Amino acid sequence: MSSGYVHIIALRTEVSIRHNTMNETELRYEIVRFCQFLHHKGYLSANDGNISVKLGDGRILITPTGIHKGFLNPEDMVVVNEQGTLLSGTRNPSGELPMHLTVYKTRPDVQAVVHAHPPYCIALSLLQNIDLNGILPEVTLSIGKFCIAPYGRPISQALGDSLYGFIEKNDALILERHGTLTVGKTVAEAYYRTERIEHAAFVLWLAYSLGKPKKLPGPEYKALLDMYESSRS
Ligand SMILES: [Zn+2]
Repeated sequence: MSSGYVHIIALRTEVSIRHNTMNETELRYEIVRFCQFLHHKGYLSANDGNISVKLGDGRILITPTGIHKGFLNPEDMVVVNEQGTLLSGTRNPSGELPMHLTVYKTRPDVQAVVHAHPPYCIALSLLQNIDLNGILPEVTLSIGKFCIAPYGRPISQALGDSLYGFIEKNDALILERHGTLTVGKTVAEAYYRTERIEHAAFVLWLAYSLGKPKKLPGPEYKALLDMYESSRS
């Protein structure tokens, strides 16, 4: 891939972060684009993962179940209401729809949800007594504390319920034994948070593979958390 092409993709992504007034057709293409990013980055395999975005009037556009996200087409998406009832589309919505509905019910400020299976986040969620916080300052500034939502059975309401107590205050969650769930005001913003948390998980995995990472001094970590909290208010 040429550097010019990469530059164009970066520019388009920046535009989409600012642009939150896309129509439904544009949002269908936006979801396809970021599903391809998820697939190319290795954050999901085969039929894994799902993305949704609010359309307005209580309608939610979401990826369908049982389709490879690297080969998704704009017309494959389906529209559901806030109760999850299918409104339009020829396929069934993602089996992980309950997670998306929990987010939209709990966080009226959220416009888009990205769920993926990034391997380093999943691997860290399998370990006991591992401390991921107070080590990487830029991660603290951008996503606050690492939060691992407890296990909920995939493709069930239990998975949606597992988010309560976590999604209210966090824009980027690791799901125990499963993956990540990130939210934002646009699909792009939610996707960026997936990239950020997986990159941090990769760095922490490297560090723990070599020894025990050095922690930030306590007062510095608290100052960073305070900066994060004030940026959200
Ligand atoms: Zn999943």
